[in-house]
Amino acid sequence: MSFNNLGLTNALLTAITEQGYKDPSAIQREAIPAILAHKDVMAIAQTGTGKTAGFSLPVLQLLADQQVTQAKHIRALIITPTRELAAQVATSINTYAAHLNVSSLAVFGGVRIEPQITALENGVDVLIATPGRLMDLYQQGAVHFEQLTLLVLDEADRMLDLGFIDDIKKISALLPTKRQTLMFSATFTNQIKALAETMLINPVLIEV
Ligand code: AMP
Repeated sequence: MSFNNLGLTNALLTAITEQGYKDPSAIQREAIPAILAHKDVMAIAQTGTGKTAGFSLPVLQLLADQQVTQAKHIRALIITPTRELAAQVATSINTYAAHLNVSSLAVFGGVRIEPQITALENGVDVLIATPGRLMDLYQQGAVHFEQLTLLVLDEADRMLDLGFIDDIKKISALLPTKRQTLMFSATFTNQIKALAETMLINPVLIEV
């Protein structure tokens, strides 16, 4: 199967070609059509499987397809356990969005919050965030979730290991209930299953 059969638009196919990707990976073949079909997804996939493109490409496409009436409030939120992963996901999103009019920003702790607040004021479609800094930004009134339609939890098992479960639950309670949620985890422990049951509605289960 090639990328052409997954339902992706030309703007994304061009970016994929520019990256030198020839064929979709297993996770991409399963996740991309499910996400484009507006399903919640629980995907068990390790780093190195192409999971980032597996959620980034369809999320960007869904955003590009939306009619935006209100300017530049967050429409997709990607939560990652670490700064490094947030930065990495943001780089991937930027690359894949090269030919789309979709903006993104990564926010994480360990750096000054003020430039992040300024960047958020300018408007961001996709926010990639670590849980602690996201809560800080919310408490300062710098993030607005009314326009959010997509939530991605990346490396959910690491988020649990690092003790972010309460933050994740607090954040998800702030989001519109009518949304699409995608959870990615390297392992499928009972704890992850329990989290999936509270966060996902009728999810497609993908294991690669
Ligand atoms: P990830 O599992 O998301 O950390 O991705 C691992 C690496 O695979 C990244 O460097 C991607 O750029 C690369 N990659 C993702 N999808 C593909 C693909 N379909 N073909 C070749 N490389 C890919």
